[in-house]
Amino acid sequence: MPELPEVEVTRRSFVDAIEGAQVLAVSLGKPLRWPLACLPQELVGRSVKTVDRRGKYLLIALSQGWLLVHLGMSGSLRFAADLPAPGVHDHFELVTTRGCLRLNDPRRFGAVVYVESLSSPMAIKLLGRLGMEPLSETFELGLFTQGLKRRKMPIKQVLLAGELVVGVGNIYASEALFLAGIRPTSPAHTLSRPKAARLYAAIRDVLARAVEQGGSTLRDFSSSDGKPGYFQLEAMVYGRAGLPCKRCDTVIKLLRQGQRSTFYCPTCQKA
Ligand SMILES: [Zn+2]
Repeated sequence: MPELPEVEVTRRSFVDAIEGAQVLAVSLGKPLRWPLACLPQELVGRSVKTVDRRGKYLLIALSQGWLLVHLGMSGSLRFAADLPAPGVHDHFELVTTRGCLRLNDPRRFGAVVYVESLSSPMAIKLLGRLGMEPLSETFELGLFTQGLKRRKMPIKQVLLAGELVVGVGNIYASEALFLAGIRPTSPAHTLSRPKAARLYAAIRDVLARAVEQGGSTLRDFSSSDGKPGYFQLEAMVYGRAGLPCKRCDTVIKLLRQGQRSTFYCPTCQKA
């Protein structure tokens, strides 16, 4: 499943190339999670101003309105001057003067939604409850610590909920909690200030490294067969249940939290 780093790497892969392009045509495949919410031909003639990201949404700013793009469970975007004919899993295509932006999404949980403005009801429905952006300056330690103090759920679930900080999916939450030495089941409001500060730094660190690593993955694949490549950090705990901790040799444990697998080291993450 594409996580924040994949979405950010995708954004960086075409933002410069598409800026200033004019829309020539829009074509749709099978229905995605939400309808486009405008007639495709209404977008023709508009230009692409820029591409931003909020959480796992790409925000394509047009000369009028926005396209909000989500990759769902299995989506990937490609932008190129010359693409082969659309395949059975290509469900959205924005043909522009600079090239074609195409969404491939076999499971169709992704979506491309048009909104007039970012304060329209649909934009607020999709983006309104998103927490701080972990890789931006708006992610502040003080706000993060205050947010933890107000939440009594286990810290791992607070991270996954995305209302305090976005983009910390299951892998990144497990890894960040390991780096910070925090037990995933600890209630968020009980974390000390030093622990909150370590967690804050660890979240930035794991996500920044994933983006960095993803940049090279993406470069690799675009030179070969053009298939999307999702990437993972070399995990310290995630997926390593029953194996020795890379730091202390204690056996890594697995538990279920809110339907999700959590991995942790009982020695390195005491509380
Ligand atoms: Zn350990």
